[in-house]
Amino acid sequence: MVESLAIASDSLLPSLIVGAGSNLLLLDDSVDALVIVPEISGVSIEPFDENEALVVVGAGESWHQFVMQTLDSGWQGLENLALIPGNVGAAPIQNIGAYGVEVADRIAHVDAYEITSGELHRFLPEQLQFGYRDSFFKREGKGRFLISSVAFRLSRNAPLNTGYEALRQALAATPEHLITAKCVAEAVIAVRQSKLPDPAKLGNAGSFFKNPIVSPEVFESLRSQYEKVPHYPQSDGRIKLAAGWLIERAGLKGMRRGDAGVHELQALVIVNYGKASGQQLFDVAREVRDTVWQKFSIALEPEVRILNRRAEDVVL
Ligand SMILES: Cc1cc2nc3c(=O)[nH]c(=O)nc-3n(C[C@H](O)[C@H](O)[C@H](O)COP(=O)(O)OP(=O)(O)OC[C@H]3O[C@@H](n4cnc5c(N)ncnc54)[C@H](O)[C@@H]3O)c2cc1C
Repeated sequence: MVESLAIASDSLLPSLIVGAGSNLLLLDDSVDALVIVPEISGVSIEPFDENEALVVVGAGESWHQFVMQTLDSGWQGLENLALIPGNVGAAPIQNIGAYGVEVADRIAHVDAYEITSGELHRFLPEQLQFGYRDSFFKREGKGRFLISSVAFRLSRNAPLNTGYEALRQALAATPEHLITAKCVAEAVIAVRQSKLPDPAKLGNAGSFFKNPIVSPEVFESLRSQYEKVPHYPQSDGRIKLAAGWLIERAGLKGMRRGDAGVHELQALVIVNYGKASGQQLFDVAREVRDTVWQKFSIALEPEVRILNRRAEDVVL
């Protein structure tokens, strides 16, 4: 790994670290960059005591398989994050989250090589500026580190998080005392499969946009027009809105431009029905962003990382 990083550092080409590529939109068919895919495997479980363990996992492991492996060994905490595509190394980058849990809630530390020096650094959660789909690795640390492993603090009996409405419904038939972490993971998988297109069958990068977080004034103005607007109050007083709801209300659900379009069931997902180019998908994303802005004066920001041929980030 250190040798690869030295090559990357000395190379005239830009370097790009790729996990499974599930959160990337390439505008061209290829990139002129040194692409590094950290295929670092291995899972080690070091119990602190009977109830808690430090679980350290290589960046190249599949996220979903790792989650299921922890549950099979009786360690819970990651069940709400089942079936998120991608590899473990990318999980801290945007602080993956789903159904009321963010990966930051479970991370004990992240080990990462600095690309220029090859030095291995250990980052504790408080150093990683985790936020909604955000971390140090998307800010000051952007492009500077290769995550080699992630350590999680998991438990045998952590409280289960089943508060999310869709999860509650999926678990409604199971008596509460019989709900285990594995039941929660199975419910999450069922809900995700019913709502989200499978990227293996219909190309997509999951939620294309982040849910916008707005001031109370902007929210009240929206609520005066749409009484039932879904909203999630944040600890800092601001309000998170559902980007999918805004896109749907802007009349864009199911919109299609050639082979690129907005998914017909989940408006937050931009899909490739066949042969759409990266640029065509980008154009659809831009149309969505512009239409939502015209209708609501609310700016949507992409969650997906958009890259040009030189592996440079492109602003939507
Ligand atoms: C159908 C679908 C559903 C999704 N659902 C969710 C969801 O519910 N919640 C959610 O948060 N996300 C979701 N996503 C987004 C995606 O799954 C996550 O962002 C995931 O963490 C990406 O993993 P990856 O290995 O594919 O990363 P990539 O797409 O390969 O890379 C993503 C970013 O991480 C960087 N990176 C990757 N590995 C490393 C490493 N080892 N070291 C340093 N940098 C690295 C890349 O340079 C890039 O900037 C979904 C995506 C899809 C396609």
